Amino acid sequence: MKMIFFTDEKLDLYLIDKFFGRAMEVFGKEKFLSLLRMYYPDSPENVNEIRKFFEGNVKEFTRKMDKDIEKLKSRWLAVEKEFFDQVPKITGFDWKFKDYKCHLSSTFVFGGCYHCDLGNVISIFPSAKHADPLETIFHEMGHLHFWEVLEKMGIETGNQKFVAEGKLWDLSEMSVGIILQGLKLQEYNYILESHIYPQHRNSWKKIKNFWKGDFKEFILKSVAFMEKQS
Ligand SMILES: [Zn+2]
Repeated sequence: MKMIFFTDEKLDLYLIDKFFGRAMEVFGKEKFLSLLRMYYPDSPENVNEIRKFFEGNVKEFTRKMDKDIEKLKSRWLAVEKEFFDQVPKITGFDWKFKDYKCHLSSTFVFGGCYHCDLGNVISIFPSAKHADPLETIFHEMGHLHFWEVLEKMGIETGNQKFVAEGKLWDLSEMSVGIILQGLKLQEYNYILESHIYPQHRNSWKKIKNFWKGDFKEFILKSVAFMEKQS
């Protein structure tokens, strides 16, 4: 198995259209802008203006990531085989696809996202400093794998994997943590508790008790629990 890295300026702009409105909601406008301006100090405030700003500069922004891309690729290559081997051992489910693709995005500065509509594609901002882009690859791949597992288990997910909201999406965030915590990679030490989103802390108190090393069991109990939540 391997990860195929690519850049795609059209997909960069599509990410703005699809996610920036939602990101502004999730982070709040102030945090959203401060993250964006950490990397693009000249970025305007309004989503439409931001779109234009990137449209005019996306080629140059992509070129500027060259060094960060090379660094990220070589870090990934050092763990690629182990990562692809270890995740199915943690969950008990194989990867659905033979290869996966990583879009190196100049626009998605928040870290990364995954594309269930494309099946085996994630997007990562390789120049991130507020988060580790290699860990973001693990995280987004964990999401794809989570939805693959639910599909294989025959659990109805509706459109939650596409819109990144809903109870199962909440559960996907927590389950990714379980997967990442199980990875044994050189110089990688994941502390799950510090990665739980504030809005998931209450559910997490209950859900963490369902993890006893059997991922299928964990999913069954957690899905039943989440479905009871209002
Ligand atoms: Zn996530």
